[in-house]
Amino acid sequence: MSRLTVGQIRYDLFQINETAEPGLNVDAYLLTGSRKAVLIDTLQESEALYDTVKRLTDLPLEVIITHGHPDHAGRGLRQFHEAGVPVYMHEADLPLYQNMFGGEFPGEWFTEINEKDVFDLGGITLETILCKGHTPGSIVLFDEQNRRLFTGDAVGSGMFWMQIEGCTPLHEFRQELLKLTERFGNMKNLRIYPGHRWQSPVQLNAQYLKDTLALTDQILNHTDNGRECVMEFAGKPLAYKEASYGMMSAYSYNPENL
Ligand SMILES: [Zn+2]
Repeated sequence: MSRLTVGQIRYDLFQINETAEPGLNVDAYLLTGSRKAVLIDTLQESEALYDTVKRLTDLPLEVIITHGHPDHAGRGLRQFHEAGVPVYMHEADLPLYQNMFGGEFPGEWFTEINEKDVFDLGGITLETILCKGHTPGSIVLFDEQNRRLFTGDAVGSGMFWMQIEGCTPLHEFRQELLKLTERFGNMKNLRIYPGHRWQSPVQLNAQYLKDTLALTDQILNHTDNGRECVMEFAGKPLAYKEASYGMMSAYSYNPENL
């Protein structure tokens, strides 16, 4: 049984955390504009998410899924769909969501979302930016007025998973990260809100993007060859490598998928 905890980050931004033993600790974010609210991700197990969100806002609502992993497009999605709330996810993640990770809900439940799609909440606009890597359809959402970047797992949360099945080759991710870093890497007061906020003890900012790009380059040009690691994943041991640099404390990658 998982537990939901709501934190209010600002008057227009709530962090909804789901925690369960062992190992589940994931965040969704609720943004409330003057006309509309957007929920970013639907957590993993909890079916109480819809009621929790409805207690926080009575604005018209839309749901945006950052990527098709089961801890971000979880069971609570059903109640939103049944209430007629549009649920957006990039189509490149549908096969992964349904085949690899056994996603519960049919593709027709999802509305397509693409690069440059804009969601106008009234006082907050969210711009969609594709950042494939962690998954082929990972997106990030940029709130320009308030310099907030909602990133799911696309650039990790201080820890980063590029080692599992379904991740793109690292050099493809590098191109996407370069795009983000060129745009946001020197932006003062940028705040990054990732999918697993507990993994970083500090507020992630523009420097985090630069550090992640620097480390990606070090891995790709073999100036950092990482540490050998093994984890249990999907019931099997998974060998991978891990490296660290600056604000990126644990960058996990598959040395066979560079
Ligand atoms: Zn993920």
